Amino acid sequence: MTKASPRRKASAWLPIAKLLLLALYLTFDYAAFAQRVASLGPSLELAAFAILYTALVLALVGAAFARPAPVRIVLAALLAAGSLMLHGYEWTTGAPLVYDAFETMVASRGDAGNAMAQHGATLLRAGLAALVLFAAIALPPGRLALPFGLGWIVPALAVAALAGLLYLRGGEGARGLPAPFSPLAQGAIMAGLHALKKDRPRQAVAFAPAPARGDGDVVLVIDESISARYLDINHPAGVRSGLAQERSGVVTANFGVAAAVANCSSGSNLTLRFGGTRESYREAAEDMPSIWAYARRAGRRTVYLDAQREDGALQNLMTPAEAREIDDFVQLGGTPVLERDRELARQLGERLGNGVAEFILVNKVGAHFPIADKFPLAAASYRPLPPRGRSAGITDIAALPGQGADTEEEWRRYRNAYRNTLTWSTGGFFDLLLPRVAGSGAVLLYTADHGQNLHEGGGPGGPTHCVPEPRGGEEGAVPLVVIAATGGGPGEGPSAATDWEAIAATNRDAMSHFRIFPTMLALLGYPPEQTKAFYGPTLLAPEKDPLTFTPNYNASLGRDPIWYRIDPAALATPPTSDYRARRLSVSD
Ligand SMILES: [Zn+2]
Repeated sequence: MTKASPRRKASAWLPIAKLLLLALYLTFDYAAFAQRVASLGPSLELAAFAILYTALVLALVGAAFARPAPVRIVLAALLAAGSLMLHGYEWTTGAPLVYDAFETMVASRGDAGNAMAQHGATLLRAGLAALVLFAAIALPPGRLALPFGLGWIVPALAVAALAGLLYLRGGEGARGLPAPFSPLAQGAIMAGLHALKKDRPRQAVAFAPAPARGDGDVVLVIDESISARYLDINHPAGVRSGLAQERSGVVTANFGVAAAVANCSSGSNLTLRFGGTRESYREAAEDMPSIWAYARRAGRRTVYLDAQREDGALQNLMTPAEAREIDDFVQLGGTPVLERDRELARQLGERLGNGVAEFILVNKVGAHFPIADKFPLAAASYRPLPPRGRSAGITDIAALPGQGADTEEEWRRYRNAYRNTLTWSTGGFFDLLLPRVAGSGAVLLYTADHGQNLHEGGGPGGPTHCVPEPRGGEEGAVPLVVIAATGGGPGEGPSAATDWEAIAATNRDAMSHFRIFPTMLALLGYPPEQTKAFYGPTLLAPEKDPLTFTPNYNASLGRDPIWYRIDPAALATPPTSDYRARRLSVSD
């Protein structure tokens, strides 16, 4: 008896084992599959979906029976990676991975580690599915190997065909199909568009700045995930913002509830740095000078204080070319996450008084989830709290806007943690900063990248922002405040000496992010009459804003963005029952 006999037996079983593994792999997605089938109903579309599904399954089988081992292993790795991406996104967000979402995910790929910490269990399941797929394809096919390179030609054709289909459908329609193919097809579209893109430099600054009226710093402070009504300046049940009290030498002009550009960080941030109106923001982001270029042309030193990333990592769609326009690029990697916003306030306060005319843009840590550990326990006035100790080193998870909480009770605790975070990192920030503003001649604009849906109306599950179909205005409703040192010189144009409080009273609850860029240009000395045609009116202009934000900022593949209107009166009220009933309880 030789050893060849059992081995032959094993090789006879291999094709069956591979097919069983593939079938097992496909069951991981039964929920999405069933949902898609149910949503299509008995229709021609269902027939088309069935054909597409079968073709993609055959492509997986083809890959599994490729003859050369290296080809099989490369295919297995690519398909497993695609599977991990799709499941990682869809299972944590509950939203389909359409092309816009794919672009956003690629843009925020630096946050994968944070996502792992937040969504560990879900991503582990996605990893397990990918492993099953890898094994199904990589194992040797025995005697059933495909000839003529069919093993790789069939899956490659499947990716190309799906890419074409998704392109024609604006990046949508892959929901419920075998998971690995959609990210690979989206990646192929992205690579194709990138290759076709003209690599031309941005336009130079075309306006001539007059000498600015004040010589104090011009500052934009971008907070993170701040729901307008959770601050005391916008609602009696809001928490301490540090902006409500009178302080000598400083004016805080509250524009009330404003509309963000988008309900996701990267889009809002990009347009805050490049400007543009709802009609021109994409052209501005593509072709026009950055705020850094305008500030430099106006003789300012450009300063970026980023509390969210470390070690020079770029975020919010900033490119290395843009980063080179920044004179002082500051990140706070050495400071614990909990202390970063306060450290920002200290550094910013010093810069306001350093005698250098600067333009400063600040990305705060703010209140992006996870937030259970974003404040010290001793500073937790609002209880009960969610479990602590799991997310202390995490600033945010931009890539995977997943569940903040699941049940109504978890959401209640989440909102309490959110209140404590705001008190600590926004209230604390301004308490440290505002005494330093007096006498500096500076003008600071304060807003947040987007708002939050904190599920006040009850109902379990669901993300806080970045969803493709927001259920209300909360995700786009942000605070907008101008903080100015009183005093300042005479002359044309806005400065610290402008009557900001009167302007804010007139334009309350009627402004948006789109008004910030032209206002910064005016503060830098650019005449608003010249910048208005492309960048729109400033915060000082009487024109009311439509108060809309977009959930599909990228609006790629020839589509136009959708705009959601915010009705300030209809925004959710922070429920005081979250903490009032149990606030006196000793057990918490
Ligand atoms: Zn954000």
